[in-house]
Amino acid sequence: MIYIGSHISAAKGYEAMGKQALKLGANTFAFFTRNPRGGKAKEIDPVDVEKFLALAKEHDFGKLVTHAPYTMNACAAKEDIRRFARETLEDDLKRMEFTPGNYYNFHPGSHVGQGADVGIDLIAELLNEVLKPEQTTTVLLETMAGKGSEIGRNFQELQSILERVTLREKMGVCLDTCHIWDGGYDIVNDLEGVLAEFDQIIGLEHLKAIHMNDSMNSLGSHKDRHEKIGQGQIGLEAMERIINHPKLQGRPVILETPNDDEGWAKEIAMLRNLHK
Ligand code: FE
Ligand code: FE
Ligand code: ZN
Repeated sequence: MIYIGSHISAAKGYEAMGKQALKLGANTFAFFTRNPRGGKAKEIDPVDVEKFLALAKEHDFGKLVTHAPYTMNACAAKEDIRRFARETLEDDLKRMEFTPGNYYNFHPGSHVGQGADVGIDLIAELLNEVLKPEQTTTVLLETMAGKGSEIGRNFQELQSILERVTLREKMGVCLDTCHIWDGGYDIVNDLEGVLAEFDQIIGLEHLKAIHMNDSMNSLGSHKDRHEKIGQGQIGLEAMERIINHPKLQGRPVILETPNDDEGWAKEIAMLRNLHK
């Protein structure tokens, strides 16, 4: 059993997303809570949500891996940009409670020259402001490729954020295969070693979801250019080992590959076939 899916447009609401996921052969999916570039989110229709929840239950969907807008920078140097991040997070977490118990993933942010230590403190501070004891959503920090001044370029940076968060149990990590490869973690030749390092620094029990993407670039390139599964520098064999690794079972696997619907349906079917 594997929970696998792709990103789906949220434009037509929840039930439409669920139906689209089924069309692609998916049993989980990701969507942007609002335009990926930011802006106001669409009003949620409770009737639409009810229909979706029934459909997800009927088809045994795994946890959804909702994605925050890319433009959100929790550790920006400018106060107004950080305020936008806080307001977005607060609003998104409220919205997430319409579909209880799912994942909300975000890019930790870019420190824009303030230094990683300042960035890490700002991100943790913001999380401590917005996380609520009663929320059912788990907030995930995404592993990043280390492009520019991105925080989350290695497992230590993510752990430094996590250990500063008071409601630690509301947090987890989403591992992006393209990003960690670009970040210098050799999941092709040393998957065991990389997972052992993750386990030692963060703990594999905190790894909640996987973004499965091949990479256009080489190990340690810090580029973050996704490629179709099996067509990049990571390759299909490594992907097969990842989805079948005993320590990674049960997590939702989300494709963020450069594809149209047909391409995603093919990749989902291919990975289902490779999953033993
Ligand atoms: Fe992402
Ligand atoms: Fe990703
Ligand atoms: Zn990426």
